[in-house]
Formats: sequence, structure tokens, C-alpha cells
Amino acid sequence: MAKRIVIKIGTNLLTEKLCGLRADFISKIAKEIAELKKKGNEILIVTSGAIGAGCTELGVKKSREVEVRQALAAVGQSYVMRAYADAFSKFKLKVAQILLTYDDFSNRKRYLNLKKAIDKLLELKVIPIINENDPISVDEIGATFGDNDKLSALVASKVNAELLILLTDIDGFYDKNPKTNKLLKSKISKGLEMSEKQSFSEHTPKSKILDDSKNFQNDAKLIKIVENITRDIEKAAGKSGSAFSIGGMLTKIKAAKIAMDSGCNMVICNGRKEGILEKAINGREGTLFVAKGKLSERERWIKFSKAAGKIVVNDCARKILLEGKCSLLAVGIDKVQGDFKKGDVVEIGDIAKGISDYSSKELDKVKGKKGRLVVKSGNIVLV
Ligand code: ADP
Repeated sequence: MAKRIVIKIGTNLLTEKLCGLRADFISKIAKEIAELKKKGNEILIVTSGAIGAGCTELGVKKSREVEVRQALAAVGQSYVMRAYADAFSKFKLKVAQILLTYDDFSNRKRYLNLKKAIDKLLELKVIPIINENDPISVDEIGATFGDNDKLSALVASKVNAELLILLTDIDGFYDKNPKTNKLLKSKISKGLEMSEKQSFSEHTPKSKILDDSKNFQNDAKLIKIVENITRDIEKAAGKSGSAFSIGGMLTKIKAAKIAMDSGCNMVICNGRKEGILEKAINGREGTLFVAKGKLSERERWIKFSKAAGKIVVNDCARKILLEGKCSLLAVGIDKVQGDFKKGDVVEIGDIAKGISDYSSKELDKVKGKKGRLVVKSGNIVLV
């Protein structure tokens, strides 16, 4: 059956030691996507690789400096698009470039316009190729997507995709990072390996541990299915700030939360394997994160938008909001943070997000007063 699928292609697959573009990989993936298109599937790509391509074109080394990265991305993006256009032209397929900022998802009007444009491209059988608009995305907390895993999950949520495939350089999600966990022979000889396996699966009852990795000489186990993002799953992905969370699995687990909440299945799998897309779709490769009950399109927009500010609520309001289906009244507000307009999405305490019927300035005047409805119940989503 035809499906709407978002495919995210990671930096390690696209670039040679993070520089230059791997034309051989792009050709392979274009061939696999052409097969899926023949079967009537609708495909969107979220791609990295612009900075790496920019390095090669300018003969410049990768840098941490924001301006240099933005310049490299601006140069590299056109080469990324050219590589995809060339690869897909062999299969008579057309591509379209879409560059996004987080604001495009948070501004309701732009969000709806974008959705219409993507729907039209898919109707015209064009493959949208999406990336963050690095040259104009300001690197402040919360102002950028931060990584293409999150971007791809937001895209999948926006276009009501049935499946999000994260193509990376590893077979799926393991109970620990296989690249840093070497086989502890002494542990095995003492019979501890089994007890470790058991304790993991006990804490993660709905996750199935399938097989040993053939690619790495170590004791990490591939997890085949994840139905809930438990603390053990988050732990296996690594803590924020740890060496492998820059990229790595942490951002992919965060993406999984967005996809699952949006009613979209997600698979993490190894893009280097032959026929990987077909196998991932049929559940023969990778780790499947199973979609949960679906939030409405409006609820998703509220939940995944960048908040323009924050309304700090008192304990009583917090309790009532947590019980659900209740509006926020001015009397429950302690503090107003940030500068927002009427109609902006704001955080409500640490428990919810909602659309404020007041600007921050107006709210500052009415907070704590009786008889004012600030956020309607239908515009509140618990986070
Ligand atoms: P990409 O550029 O494709 O998004 P990343 O390098 O960001 O890829 O993420 C993939 C890497 O995450 C793997 O190569 C591996 O080193 C690391 N990793 C960390 N924790 C895990 C885990 N629990 N399971 C699998 N890989 C992990």
C-alpha cells in the first residue's frame, strides 16, 4: 500500500569524513527511492551535508565559528541540491529545495502555507528535499531546530507521514553505544552478560532485544521495537553533553517522541545496506519506534512550536490544568516571561503549551485578577 514517507539522511552517510559529498551513496539512495516512487509512495527527504560540501568547494576546513558555518552552508547547499537533482534525473524524477527555520513551524500562517506547498509538490510527483536554512537561522537557544533529526520528525508530523526513516551509519538503536562499549570478556566468563540483558528488558518491558550486532565486537544488543520511550531508552542514547550526544542517538530519541505523538512510525536503520528502504518499511531492518494515539493537527502545532514566552502559573492552576480540559484564567497566573503577542504559542508552567489570548504586556496588567480567560481549554496541550 502506498505510503507518505519522510527519509532523513545523516551527515556520516552523505559526506566523506564530514567533508565533500558521497555521490555513490546519493546514487544508491536515489535508486531505492525511485523504486518506492514506482509503487506510488510519496517521499520527502530531509538532508544534511551542506557544510561538508561547502568545505570541499571552498577548500576550507570545518569550523565551529557560526559565521563560517553559515557561509559554508550557503555555498554547500546548492551542491547538495545539484547532487540530488543529478542522481534523481537518471530515474526521470524532479526535486525541489525547501529551506526552513524553526519560526516557519511556529508561525501558524507560515506553517499552513508550507503544508499547502508541500502537498502541491507531492501531488506533482516532485521529491521535496528539505534542510534547515542555516545561513539565516540564528544560533540562540530554541531558535534553531538544532539537528536534522528533530527537523525530520517535525516535517513528518506536519505532512501526516505514516513513516519516518532515519538513515544513519549503524544498524539501529542499541541498549548502549556499540562504538564505545567493547566486549568485556571477563564479564561474560563470570556469566554477567545475561543478567545485564535481563535487567534492561525488565525495565523496558515492551522493547524486544533481538540479536547481537555483527558489525561490532562488543556486547551491545540491537533493540528491534520500542513502544515507549522509557528512562532506560533515554539512558542508552546518552546524556546531553556526553561525547556521543552531539548528534548521536539522543536527538534521534527526541525525534522519536515527536513522531510517535504524531501517529507516525519511525525506523532508525543503516543507510549503507543494500535495499535498506524496502527492508525498513517491511520491518526487516533497524529499530521500529511504534506510533501512539494521534494528536490533532492543531494540537501538534501547539505542542511542537517554539514558545514565544512563558506564563508561570500558581499551584492551584497547575493542578487544574493537569486534570485536563480546562482553560487558564488570569487569577492562576503568577508571572509573565518574555515578549509575546496575542495568538502566540507560550509555555504554561512546565506542564503545557497554549495559544495566549493576551499579549505579554496586557497579561502583566491582568495577572492574578478574577474573571479573565487567558488561554481557552481547546488551545492548551499538555507537554
Ligand atoms: P547521523 O549523522 O547519521 O545522524 P550520528 O553520528 O549523529 O549519525 O548518530 C549515529 C551514532 O550514534 C552511531 O554511529 C553511534 O556511534 C552513536 N550512538 C550512541 N548511542 C547509541 C546507541 N544506543 N545505539 C546506536 N548508536 C549509538
